[in-house]
Amino acid sequence: MKSFKFSRIIFLCLLISLYGSPLSAEKGESLASYSEIVWNYLEKLDGFGPRDPGGPGYEKMKALIVQAGSQYADDIREQKFAVGKDESDKLIMTNYELTFRGKSAEAPIVIGAHYDTRPYADNEFDPRVRNTPIPGANDGGSGTALLLGLARYLDSRPPERTVKLVFFDGEDYGKKNTGQMLLGSTVYAADLAKKGPEAWPALVLVVDMIGDKNLEIYKENNSQKSAPWLVDHLFQVARENKFPQFREKFRHSIYDDHTPFHRLGIPSVLLIDFDYPYWHRLSDTLDKCSPESLFAAFSVVVKSLEGMDALIKSRQTAQDKLGE
Ligand SMILES: [Zn+2]
Repeated sequence: MKSFKFSRIIFLCLLISLYGSPLSAEKGESLASYSEIVWNYLEKLDGFGPRDPGGPGYEKMKALIVQAGSQYADDIREQKFAVGKDESDKLIMTNYELTFRGKSAEAPIVIGAHYDTRPYADNEFDPRVRNTPIPGANDGGSGTALLLGLARYLDSRPPERTVKLVFFDGEDYGKKNTGQMLLGSTVYAADLAKKGPEAWPALVLVVDMIGDKNLEIYKENNSQKSAPWLVDHLFQVARENKFPQFREKFRHSIYDDHTPFHRLGIPSVLLIDFDYPYWHRLSDTLDKCSPESLFAAFSVVVKSLEGMDALIKSRQTAQDKLGE
């Protein structure tokens, strides 16, 4: 009996020395392996069905964000807010902020995406299905998958300065012309406004609809107005790392989760491919997305973070000089 136990211990020791502990085996995967990791996240959350606020898929989505946050982030904060005019249509929405502490105490970098999906397929040709929630594989799904992958990545590679991954709720909630859009990012920005510039991030980078099989990310006009230096940096990184999905031309002026921050005066940039024929339709499904596209966007975000701290510092120095 004794010898059996002993051999089992030896066997276990051998296993651990060969493969490392399960925890360390997960750390520090190569960047290339994130092509699969991020895609797996997209497949998983797509399997939840539509993630429109209040629906069953939405609850599963929130649970996955909390699980990733608890596993990978240094801190996870929920920001709850009520939507609706009275009790009958009242809905509680939640932003999630996952913090990855950096080495310095400088203003953090916020990277955001909306995780809710649109409750109405209002771009459908057939009016009978316009009130059906969209699957949102690309719109809502792709940005969320990218952020979840980033959570795992940042856990094994702590950033130079603090990074906050913010999962916004209610970006796509309201019907056309109701103004009930960008709900989560508006609440998050309002909270920053209340706290004052001391609490503001150095920049906000938003990703949305970046999983399209035929990915073409153009420079977005409002981003250029808010932070041309950051737009340049992202597209330079894309060029240097040979991601042709990033096109060095301007196209579209988009109202998205970067808008409330831009209005506050925080440098804010949106990465989006807005030329997506399945936008706000029931055909926004997983087969319209690809691992290659998601990985291109993921890699550019990751690689752009590498030089970001120095870039922000050099900009501050230049601004200080201008102010003298
Ligand atoms: Zn949308």
